[in-house]
Amino acid sequence: MLKIHSRCNLSCDYCYVYTHIDQTWRNQPTVMPDQVIELAARRVAEHVDAHDLDAVTMILHGGEPLLAGKAVIARTVEAVRAAVRPQTRMSWHVQTNGLLLDDEFLRIFARYGIRVGVSLDGGRVHNDRRRVYANGRGSYADVASALRRLAEYPDRYGGILCTIHLDNDPLAVYRELLAFAPPRIDFLLPHGNWTTPPPGRSPGGDDAPYADWLVPIFDEWFDAPAQPTGIRLFESILDLLLGGSSGTEAIGAEPVDLLIVETDGSIEQGDALKTTESGMAATGLHIRSASFDDALAHPGFQARQTGIDGLSATCRACPVVRVCGGGLYAHRYRAGSGFDNPSVYCPDLMKLIRHAQGRISEQLLAS
Ligand code: SF4
Repeated sequence: MLKIHSRCNLSCDYCYVYTHIDQTWRNQPTVMPDQVIELAARRVAEHVDAHDLDAVTMILHGGEPLLAGKAVIARTVEAVRAAVRPQTRMSWHVQTNGLLLDDEFLRIFARYGIRVGVSLDGGRVHNDRRRVYANGRGSYADVASALRRLAEYPDRYGGILCTIHLDNDPLAVYRELLAFAPPRIDFLLPHGNWTTPPPGRSPGGDDAPYADWLVPIFDEWFDAPAQPTGIRLFESILDLLLGGSSGTEAIGAEPVDLLIVETDGSIEQGDALKTTESGMAATGLHIRSASFDDALAHPGFQARQTGIDGLSATCRACPVVRVCGGGLYAHRYRAGSGFDNPSVYCPDLMKLIRHAQGRISEQLLAS
């Protein structure tokens, strides 16, 4: 993941980059400098060659990546493409708030084969509770027109990323998102941990408000004669229940395979760690002097390479551990014991997985 721009043109009140404990974004340059782009391209190529990789996924991220501008985006893709051997398949993605997504951007994405994911938390009322400009104005109208434009480029449409807010009506949110015909929806649990709990989640309590929010959507989606969209979290749970693999680091015990190059070229772990302690995502490494293999030797990455063996004793003894995998790494954090805990969302994950398991069994018995 390349963080090509470190600032944003929205002020969402739950943003994990700007509103949590880690404020290191303030030290980042605004736009990724050309020499960092060149170095990053060479590091990607070096990694591809060292491991004889036949496929690599590249994600353009921020802040808001479209603020970097069309020239920087084109330059980034061209630099990586020129450095990486041609037989390696590159899949390009950009995750944006959509505000700047005009036809020219879409033509550039079409030219370079970049898929676009847009963040939206529901219809006007639901989205505009939190996804607002700095002056408090809601962003829905602008994002909705961007999504309508994106729908004209179906090959470039990656999907919608929606953060769960308990005060939003789940089925209304789901149906509002479906109106934009996304090929995929990613429902995200808001970041939190045992020390700084997520909204509405009492750490250690047996209630499962996030599962209660997701289950009605699961049922409507699961019971549809043909699924109107892919829902990454649900599909991953079902795949894992049936012996397959996960498509998201939010669930499952697969080794982490995502590495971040920050705007200044420093190498970091996943952004969600920024919600635990200041500097927790940092590795102290920079692409100038460290390869991606050097980064993989960092204890933070190593801790997430060992699957179920690397989980807390509670998780290792859990009946759904093969599916849950302890949830997202950042959600296990507790000041003092670090990440050697179940997820702060444990009851929610357990309830959602059990529900999905029940629905599959029911369907198998009926067939
Ligand atoms: S449901 Fe809870 S105990 Fe079980 S694996 Fe997930 S986080 Fe760990």
